[in-house]
Amino acid sequence: MDDNRPFAKTEPEAMTVKTRFAPSPTGFIHLGNARTALFNALLGRGEGRVFLLRIEDTDRDRSREEFVAALEEDLMWLGLGWQEGPVVGGEHGPYFQSQREALYQRYYRQLEEHDLAYPCFCSEAELKLSRKLQRSAGQPPRYSGKCAHLSEGERQRRRQDNPRPTLRFRVPRDRVIAFDDLVRGPQRFDSNEIGDFIIRRGDGSAAFFFSNAIDDALMGVTHVLRGEDHLTNTPRQQLILEALGLQSPRYGHISMIVGHDGAPLSKRHGSRSIRELRQQGYFPQAVVNYLARLGHKYDDEGFLDLDQLAAQFRFDRLGKAPARYDAHQLLHWQHQALVAASADEIWQWMGPQVRELVGEERRNEFLDLVVANISFPEHALHWAQVVYQDPLELSDEMREVVAAAGREFFQQALLALELHPADFKAFSNAIKQATGVKGKALFQPLRAAFTGELGGPEMSKLMRVLGPERLRLRLRACLQ
Ligand code: GLU
Repeated sequence: MDDNRPFAKTEPEAMTVKTRFAPSPTGFIHLGNARTALFNALLGRGEGRVFLLRIEDTDRDRSREEFVAALEEDLMWLGLGWQEGPVVGGEHGPYFQSQREALYQRYYRQLEEHDLAYPCFCSEAELKLSRKLQRSAGQPPRYSGKCAHLSEGERQRRRQDNPRPTLRFRVPRDRVIAFDDLVRGPQRFDSNEIGDFIIRRGDGSAAFFFSNAIDDALMGVTHVLRGEDHLTNTPRQQLILEALGLQSPRYGHISMIVGHDGAPLSKRHGSRSIRELRQQGYFPQAVVNYLARLGHKYDDEGFLDLDQLAAQFRFDRLGKAPARYDAHQLLHWQHQALVAASADEIWQWMGPQVRELVGEERRNEFLDLVVANISFPEHALHWAQVVYQDPLELSDEMREVVAAAGREFFQQALLALELHPADFKAFSNAIKQATGVKGKALFQPLRAAFTGELGGPEMSKLMRVLGPERLRLRLRACLQ
C-alpha cells in the first residue's frame, strides 16, 4: 500500500498515534474549530489510533455546560466520534479540566520545590502599568521579574496582604527552544524573549499553558494539530513539560482560515456555527468534505467519506498560507452530498412538512423531479407547495410574463394540452405551430403558468407530475 502518511500504519509508531481536540466550552463550534477537530480526528482515525476529546473549562466565568453538550452534539453530527473523553470515558480521565485541579496541584508543588515556579503578588494594576511603561520604551511587554527573587520571609509577609498570589513559571535564561513543527518545519525561540508566565491564576485555576501541556502529556497525546495562533505558546509549554520531565507531543500549527478580504474568518464573511449549518440543512458530509480541503490538499476531487479522507491525510499537504473561506465551495459540497445521499436519506432530510405535503406514495416522483434543483430543505418545501398546492399564487413579475403572452396564447395552450397532456415536446410544438411563438417567449409563460417561476425542474417531468387536471386549472387561471 502506498501510504505516505507520517507514521504509516505499517510502522511501529503506528501503535501510538493519539490526537485530541481540546475545546474551551465558551461558545458554539464554528468552522475554524470544527476544522481543527476534523484534522485531529482524521489523523487519529484507524486501527491503533485514538482521537481524544478534552474539555478545557478552566475559565470558570466563561465556560458553560450547555456549550459542552452542544459541542459534543455537533462533533457527533459531523461524524467525529472520540474514543476517549467525556461520555465514553477512558483510562486518563477525568476529561474535564475543571475536575483535574487536584492533579495539577502535584505539578505546581513539584515546580515550586525545585524553585522552577514562584508566587507572584503583583496586582493587575501594577502589571498593567509595567506593560505600559515597557511599551512606551519600545520594548515588548513581559513580566519584569519583580517577585522572582523574594526571600521566604518576604513571601510570608506578602501573603498576609494577598493570600492568593498567582504562580509563575521561572523561564530559564539563555536557552534556545527548538522543535520541528509538523506543518511549519523547524522552529527556534529564544527563552530570553519569554517573560516568566502565570501557570496558576489567583483564583486557583490552572492557566491554559499549564493545564493544556500537562494534560497532553498525562493523557499520552502524541500529535497535536492546532491553530497557528498557538505557535508562540508551544515553547512555553515545552519548557513546562521539560521542567517536569514529561513527554511533549509533536505539534503542528495549521494556518488560519480567512475571509475573502484576508481578515480572520468571522460572521461578517458568512461564517456560521456548525449548529447553524445543520439547521439550514447542510449535510454533515458536505461540511466535512469542505473543511477537509480548507488548508489541506487532496488529489481526489470527488466526494470522500471519513475513512477515505483519513487515508489521504498527510502533514506535507497542510498549507502554510492562510486558507480562504469560500461559501460557493461549501455549497458545491452540499450538492455533492445530495447526489451521494440515498432516497431515504433525502426524504428524511426534506423534513416533516414536505413529507406530509407530498405523501409517501408520491415520494419517488417528487424526488426525481426536484433533487437536481434544490440545495436545502426549504427549497424542497417550496417545490412541494408549487407542485401539490392550489391555487398557485403568481408574483407581480410572473403576472406580467403571463399578460405579455396574452389570452390567445393560453387558449392555444389549453387546446394543445388536450392533445398532448403528458408530452411537453409535443405540447409546446403544438402551441408554436398555432401561435408562431417560439423560444423564450414560448417557454417562459408556460413555466410561469405552471410553477410561478422562470427556472426549476425539467418541464417534461413537471408536466407528468402536475398532471392534466392541474395543468388545465393553471392555464385557465391565466386567461383571467
Ligand atoms: N482550549 C484551547 C483552545 O480552544 C486548546 C488549544 C489547543 O488545541 O492546544 O484554543
